[in-house]
Amino acid sequence: MEIKSVRGMNDLFGVELEHWHYVESKIKKVFHSFGYSEIRTPALEKIEVFSGTVGDETDIVEKQMYQIITDSETYVLRPEGTASFMRAVLEHNLHSTGQPGRYYYYLPMFRHERPQKGRLRQFHQFGAELINDASPEADAELITVLDQIYKSFEVTEYRVRINSVGCIECRPPYKDKLKDFFQPKLNELCEQCQKRFERSPMRILDCKRESCRAIAKTAPLILSCICSSCKTHHERVKTCLTMAQVKFEEDPYIVRGLDYYTRTAFEFTSELLGAQDALGGGGRYDGLSSRFGKAPFPAVGFGLGMERLMIALQETKRLPQTIQTPSFFFSPLGDKAFELLFPLSLKLKRQGVWCEISYEKTKGLKWLLKQANRLNADFSLMIGDEELKSGSALLKNMKSGTQETLSITSLESELLRRATHAP
Ligand code: AMP
Repeated sequence: MEIKSVRGMNDLFGVELEHWHYVESKIKKVFHSFGYSEIRTPALEKIEVFSGTVGDETDIVEKQMYQIITDSETYVLRPEGTASFMRAVLEHNLHSTGQPGRYYYYLPMFRHERPQKGRLRQFHQFGAELINDASPEADAELITVLDQIYKSFEVTEYRVRINSVGCIECRPPYKDKLKDFFQPKLNELCEQCQKRFERSPMRILDCKRESCRAIAKTAPLILSCICSSCKTHHERVKTCLTMAQVKFEEDPYIVRGLDYYTRTAFEFTSELLGAQDALGGGGRYDGLSSRFGKAPFPAVGFGLGMERLMIALQETKRLPQTIQTPSFFFSPLGDKAFELLFPLSLKLKRQGVWCEISYEKTKGLKWLLKQANRLNADFSLMIGDEELKSGSALLKNMKSGTQETLSITSLESELLRRATHAP
């Protein structure tokens, strides 16, 4: 029997993983320059972290969580970052200073979804969370950070949509209004929306089915129903985004899948991605801590999917062509030459210069040069009996094909001078 990886969970290696490293380090730079520090939480959490907090009616909690059941506990593999983050904040009292705190995470998420392009069962999210700041400026900052991440890769093919989903004061009457609207049309809605009708009527607004969309088109929209303080907040977010030069559009159909959002909700979408067009998204979640039975404090955050960003970067050819390759490939012909080149190769490596050496003793020069080519080394260095006798080494520039003879006595300094990634 051939054992394969779990469907929707990928191995990463080679050039693809090099590209991931490149992208990860650029994103981390953006977070650092906006003052966000990293937080890591365990992959396994108690089920209570998500059920009852994220919302029992959501797809994630209802059907997508991987569960591990033991005699006394049910654990789940983290399906999203914010609830785990909130559990950690409350556990370590990170909010107790009352001062704004900026955090980012980069973690694998697990959801039992139907895999397709851009939709995996193990995927990776970068996320940012800003706690203890209720201001609309904080919301605008988060949206700006997410925007800056895509801008840092020169990606322009995306749209930023924002909405307000109201607060605990104005959302209940809006939900009632929506229910009054959908009630007579209930039979025409898809099965999923019929289920959502009672407890999450707002989620009918972001159903992707054409028939539900057509009905939702004439539904009352939240922006005309939110209270005056939510309205003022929303207007200020828009003003700040304009100041930040973030291009956005208002989309009253953005409600986000999770229950814990209040006021600002946003999504970044891109046509480059096909059907799964969400690049990232987030919103304000001032009420989440009370779902953990604790006093509320303000918070806002976002999550962005790495796999989706990678698709966008591949589609638009924005991933670097040249991946790091060895500066040198050493070809010692015989034991004496090996004794000389082996310590030198380690010396260079210890100084941060990528230097390969062949341990093969019988294959000959032609074969060794082939290996230098295969690895894309900048230079190939050869020492055989002739060279040992004359105290020299033959250095070939693999790109130009030119050769030069170096003296063995000054080999280290000569090589360091030529190293592409010199220390
Ligand atoms: P969400 O937590 O559902 O709001 O997702 C945040 C971001 O994670 C989305 O905008 C996507 O970029 C990404 N994402 C969500 N689900 C998946 C998945 N199953 N596979 C890959 N990426 C995903």
